[in-house]
Amino acid sequence: MARATLTIDLDAIAANWRALAAMGRAEAGAVVKADAYGLGAARVAGRLATAGARRFFVALAEEGAGLRRALGREPEIFVFSGHMDGDTGTIRDAGLIPLLNAAEQVDRHRAALPGQPFGIQLDTGMNRLGMEEAEWAALAPSLLAEGPRLLMSHLACADEPDHPMNAAQLAAFRRMTDGAGVPRSLSATGGILLGPEYHFDLTRPGIGLYGGQPFAEARPVVTLSLPVIQIRDVPPGETVGYGNSWTAARPSRIATLGAGYADGLIRAMSGRARVFAGGRPCPLVGRVSMDLMAADVTDLDHVPERLDILGPAQGVDALAEAAGTIGYEILTALGPRYARAYTGAAA
Ligand SMILES: *Cc1c(COP(=O)(O)O)cnc(C)c1O
Repeated sequence: MARATLTIDLDAIAANWRALAAMGRAEAGAVVKADAYGLGAARVAGRLATAGARRFFVALAEEGAGLRRALGREPEIFVFSGHMDGDTGTIRDAGLIPLLNAAEQVDRHRAALPGQPFGIQLDTGMNRLGMEEAEWAALAPSLLAEGPRLLMSHLACADEPDHPMNAAQLAAFRRMTDGAGVPRSLSATGGILLGPEYHFDLTRPGIGLYGGQPFAEARPVVTLSLPVIQIRDVPPGETVGYGNSWTAARPSRIATLGAGYADGLIRAMSGRARVFAGGRPCPLVGRVSMDLMAADVTDLDHVPERLDILGPAQGVDALAEAAGTIGYEILTALGPRYARAYTGAAA
């Protein structure tokens, strides 16, 4: 088979969720936006529900509708983009909880779905989504009387524990929400690792569930194995791939692998990333092209049928570093052409 295989360990995701949940007394939710960071929201959320997760977060109402079909009626599904124009039917039919992020959204929600659940998003300094302090001060009395399900904000620098922004945002969040008597949520993966004072009532881990930094103790979740489509002997002086960017310096064995930038293995990996035969690294040579890439396997005694670009020997963050990006982007870029295989209890 010429298709690359992406194997997703659902038990590892559940173990990562439990480990993050055990770091404090707050309830742990689960962020499954962008199809669970590319790994399959229905499968991932189903496994996490079995592990005990009861509150899920998505970015878009449409994502929430798909998740509702997968999870059934019970779990709460929050929508980060709030109540956007055109979302009313989806929010109502799927029973979603929009996290309203501006006065305009409050008006829309009150007019379209009066008495229906909502949460509030507050800006504590990131300036991306949420009400600012003055806007919130004006709206809080009436909104709190309507019984929001959640007050939340988001940290801009939580992956840098010593950054003064963390304490500043914590103080702003307290100032805006102390005494409100409503469940509160401030922390994603990075904030959970900052310690229990950042946890409040509900946490929102995403990347840590999927084995990415800053959760250094995470169990690895994904293995991505690329099929070897051809092996060729390249004499010294000959080149490999578009633009002749690599020239053999010695008699070389080159494996052509069946995945490329259309599969999310971005062109910036060219000449910088490695694939692995078990624990043995093989450098990528030449440019990554749309469907193919090449690796130098000269030093292997035996070339296996598949070489791994993600797995125990090279996790998402190691590959991201080679490509000059972050683990989040590697995961969410993984394309639709892979054969996806799930392992773990609910697979
Ligand atoms: C994406 C996101 C999260 C999850 O963040 P991770 O860093 O992946 O844990 C939590 N909250 C909000 C508002 C987000 O946008």
